[in-house]
Amino acid sequence: MHLGWGWSERAFSLMARRISIRYTGFRECPNCRGRGDDGAAWRPRVCRRCRGRGRLVTDVEVVDSVEGKLPRDRYDFNARGEVFLLGFDEDEEIEVIRPEDPWD
Ligand SMILES: [Zn+2]
Repeated sequence: MHLGWGWSERAFSLMARRISIRYTGFRECPNCRGRGDDGAAWRPRVCRRCRGRGRLVTDVEVVDSVEGKLPRDRYDFNARGEVFLLGFDEDEEIEVIRPEDPWD
């Protein structure tokens, strides 16, 4: 039996593409010095910059189930750990696997 292109393309499209995100670098939040809040004795406020985590993300690793580890120009991220994929087809179904929240 011959399985032509039609078959393999279909099989491929049924497999959801997966993007795994991992945080590989952190630094102490300079706004709260790692406390995660403003240090007030009574009703401390959660630090806005790190949202109570005490740490900011400085490096991430993004691994695509199709292309493997993505180069730095294929994604962007911010200190809160939000990752933005660049150059991906909007219509493509991609399952994004994020680190657990809160991460540590
Ligand atoms: Zn902070």
